Amino acid sequence: MMADKESSKKPIVNNSSNNSKKKKKKKRGGAKRKMTLEQTVAYKSVREWVFLDRSNDNSFNSICLFDSVLDDFGVQWYQPKEKLVFEFHCHSTCSDGFLSPSKLVERAHQNGAKVLALTDHDTMSGIPEALEAARRFGIKIIPGVEISTMFSTRGESGPKEPVHILAYYSSWGPKKSEEFEKFLGNIRDGRFIRAKNMISKLNKLKMPLKWENLIKIAGKGVAPGRLHLARALLEAGHVENLKQAFTQYLYDGGPAYSMGSEPVSEEAVELIRETGGIAVLAHPWALKNPATIIRRLKEAGLHGIEAYRNDGKLEGTYVLYIVLLSCNSPKTFMIFLIF
Ligand SMILES: [Zn+2]
Repeated sequence: MMADKESSKKPIVNNSSNNSKKKKKKKRGGAKRKMTLEQTVAYKSVREWVFLDRSNDNSFNSICLFDSVLDDFGVQWYQPKEKLVFEFHCHSTCSDGFLSPSKLVERAHQNGAKVLALTDHDTMSGIPEALEAARRFGIKIIPGVEISTMFSTRGESGPKEPVHILAYYSSWGPKKSEEFEKFLGNIRDGRFIRAKNMISKLNKLKMPLKWENLIKIAGKGVAPGRLHLARALLEAGHVENLKQAFTQYLYDGGPAYSMGSEPVSEEAVELIRETGGIAVLAHPWALKNPATIIRRLKEAGLHGIEAYRNDGKLEGTYVLYIVLLSCNSPKTFMIFLIF
């Protein structure tokens, strides 16, 4: 819940722009981490994919990519000379972000990102504009979407928990695109109904909101979400800030909370796989039952889990690596979670 609010507030999460994190990282020596031979091969492959349009340029290819050093045991390690910055989770005005897809791409470029996955809530409508802008700035776009689902802890009748699943696609987008778009369209329709229900709950709580205001805040044709409702509450003077809107009224199961028509989480994972996508669990640190959810979704075919974002990171028993590997082609990529 809070995760979404935060991510939308700062659509671009560039780790290098976060000073406190940067300092922390430096202390741990993260920036100078050396790589094994396997990792250098993977890095080279990803780099070739990122800079595919320059692959015919011999001078570009002949640049030495690594410094290599021998450690005290005589093992050879490598250190990349340049940093490849990836951004795998961001929202535009096509859902609850603050920047249009092209402005988002521009911001990502300014922050040094070379690869950007646009992952709006339940819509891929911003992808064409992002692709167009990315061509201007020479960065790669991974077409993506963050799907709202509902997880039942104990079968159909058990308690439910909202779960967001990120889907990443090749540059061709999802296979069976009509079926996939219908699936997303259903969830978006549910968002309109949910927003209406939430407004009537807020009315009962003596915090009237006008539907027209909410739609104006969300933008034309954009399916409203909780962040839009929080903004409407703030504009109407019912709360002092967005955080209060979430912590008092809009949180999962809160007094103004309502469900939409979210599919069950496993169904979304299966459909992502069927349509050729990579399924990644979003912000698991915000879940009430992360262990159960991760186990069950992994059984359903989940490929990875989000490990780090500006509003949180995996800690404790969950291991932190999401590694992006590429097979020499802009059409194929894989994200692995290493347990
Ligand atoms: Zn989310």
